[in-house]
Amino acid sequence: MPVSGSSFRPPFCPNPACRYHDATSSSWPWVRAGFFLRDAAPHRVQRFQCRHCRRHFSTQTFRGDYWLKQPRLLLPVAHRLVGCSGFRQIAREFGISPQTVLGLSSRIGRQCLLFHEALRPRGELREPLALDGFRSFERSQYHPTEFHLAIGQHSHYVHGFTDSELRRSGAMRPGQRRWRAKLEARWGRPDPRSTEHEVLALLEIVTEGATSLILHTDEHQDYPRALARLRHRVTVAHHTVSSRAARTSKNPLYAINLFELIVRHSGANHKRETIAFSKRRQSAADRLWLTLVWRNYVKSFSERKRDATPAMRAGVCEGRWSLEAILAERQFIGRVRLPERWARYYWGLTPTRALPRARAVRSARHASATPAAPAARAPARSQAASSAPRAPSAKSAALQPSMPRPKRAVKGRSVASTGARVARARPQPVAQSPRQKSAASPAWASA
Ligand SMILES: [Zn+2]
Repeated sequence: MPVSGSSFRPPFCPNPACRYHDATSSSWPWVRAGFFLRDAAPHRVQRFQCRHCRRHFSTQTFRGDYWLKQPRLLLPVAHRLVGCSGFRQIAREFGISPQTVLGLSSRIGRQCLLFHEALRPRGELREPLALDGFRSFERSQYHPTEFHLAIGQHSHYVHGFTDSELRRSGAMRPGQRRWRAKLEARWGRPDPRSTEHEVLALLEIVTEGATSLILHTDEHQDYPRALARLRHRVTVAHHTVSSRAARTSKNPLYAINLFELIVRHSGANHKRETIAFSKRRQSAADRLWLTLVWRNYVKSFSERKRDATPAMRAGVCEGRWSLEAILAERQFIGRVRLPERWARYYWGLTPTRALPRARAVRSARHASATPAAPAARAPARSQAASSAPRAPSAKSAALQPSMPRPKRAVKGRSVASTGARVARARPQPVAQSPRQKSAASPAWASA
């Protein structure tokens, strides 16, 4: 019987409340603590125990497919998500439910978010940035959304995104206007200043540690307002270009236009006239984190020439990553300092106005385990917020990111040994707990 991890040395304690979780101490005391058996290969898995916090864990704890019943699905699903398949098409191929694909999609999105956060460059910007919005919608075309993107003008490295919900505008028939009024009376209207707030949030993340910024945008009036509110002391040279200018490679916003093209070409949910559109903005964001990481680190700038990736062109890394390598090692939220705005993506707190009960994807107890996570933003109507807002004790917090319960521990096989923490190249961090599934989220609520 193949045994997983007979030579594996755990690099750090996976318990976010343990002092050896994020520490760089080389004297972390751990021991081997038997095995457990499971249905999927490898069938026999090595267990360990932290001698400091007493937490048990295993080799699987450090894998990107931790806690999955069918770990073999993670990679093919990721490939199909950037291969323009809808959730249902993927589900049919593997004989699983679309909800399973949704769960895998958000797990992959979280992993990609943490991976990107661990690798993205900090400090001075090495090239001008192009900033613009990518329009789509959630639930129906009465709920337009915009993803604000910041991309390196020459490398095409995508630094990140934030999102806004927008009010439906443009030409509408009288009946459509009446329906919009009805929906707005029921669900309220999106914040008209959302674009300004969200662009500001994005720029604050991207320009942290920088002293100067050359920025290319279109003539949207919210951009100068957002720039005026930047808290960092950044000298900004802001250049605008008409959104009617030809979208050729000479256009300063070419990097954005090309990324938008790739997103629409690679993601089924952003195709024109599709029924595979995202029913929730959170789901669209999860998929967009995957597309961002795939574009930055995996895809050649030109697939025909098989040349460098945008991340290599930006000097972020020296080689090309594969999706397999990106998903292999679990990223722990407790070891990555996510910006507060992006932590909301991680914790699934992006609301969809017309699906208020589907908003609480994670409970407040998970959110409280990380300093960046906004537990207070858990929606008031959510089950999680109403049933578990109590702050956990240190002990219970330590136990929350529950590990897979062993089916049968093989006693008497423990081999005591003390392992030194293995220093690993970035990115090391990986996730601490799977997102809690909302019981209120119907199957059709996310695609
Ligand atoms: Zn520990």
